[in-house]
Amino acid sequence: MQLAATLPAGLRKLGRIVVDGILPPRCLCCGAVVGEPHALCGRCWAAITFFAPPWCAGCGLPFPYPMGEGALCAACARGRASWDRARAVLRYDKHSRRLVLGLKHGDRTHLAAALGRWMRGAGGEVLDGADLILPVPLHWTRLFARRYNQAALLAQAIRAAGGPPVAADWLVRRRRTPSQGRLGPAARARNVAGAFALRGDRSVDGKRVVIIDDVLTTGATVEECARVLRRAGAGFIGVLTLARALRAGT
Ligand SMILES: [Zn+2]
Ligand SMILES: [Zn+2]
Repeated sequence: MQLAATLPAGLRKLGRIVVDGILPPRCLCCGAVVGEPHALCGRCWAAITFFAPPWCAGCGLPFPYPMGEGALCAACARGRASWDRARAVLRYDKHSRRLVLGLKHGDRTHLAAALGRWMRGAGGEVLDGADLILPVPLHWTRLFARRYNQAALLAQAIRAAGGPPVAADWLVRRRRTPSQGRLGPAARARNVAGAFALRGDRSVDGKRVVIIDDVLTTGATVEECARVLRRAGAGFIGVLTLARALRAGT
């Protein structure tokens, strides 16, 4: 009797030891064993730069010291962007690159859940009050090769973390564009010019929308998406990316 009562608990414990033995939680970035799932190890945590105020009210560029409420960086003060406000969670550099590439090229869709929670947490200034979030689309030929769109994965994870509804297929890529990887800012802008469109049966007129992408580099891609949304009458256009590249010295 006593044995029968204790066996299931004993088996459960054994089962947990076996599962933990096979799949210890791993650092999201470097793969080192960590104490809890969906976390970074201490080294990655210390190495990755998470953006925090004081920052530009427009694009979220960190300022070295407080500049006053609503202060803008030089680029935002020139006011050439088609979007209204942009935020990113972390700096894209050699430390965070594995995190971003894992999402893009690895088979690590579970990463998206954790990163989406970070984006929901850090993106309040663009997400709060938004009607829709729109992932930057991949061309279908790339989608076919990669099997998923990392921006769409992040958008769904942001939604799952309590963010606004995802308009997954509203923005479409009209033509396949060469990889942006080795292009400079002007070439990137030319590369994506006219590449995006809003599906004809969808309306963003008067809506608050947020463009979601994994990395913001020169901003050419989100600028092109924002232009499409602006022409379609969007009332507020936010941009939220997981990572943002900064030039050295900024
Ligand atoms: Zn790590
Ligand atoms: Zn700015």
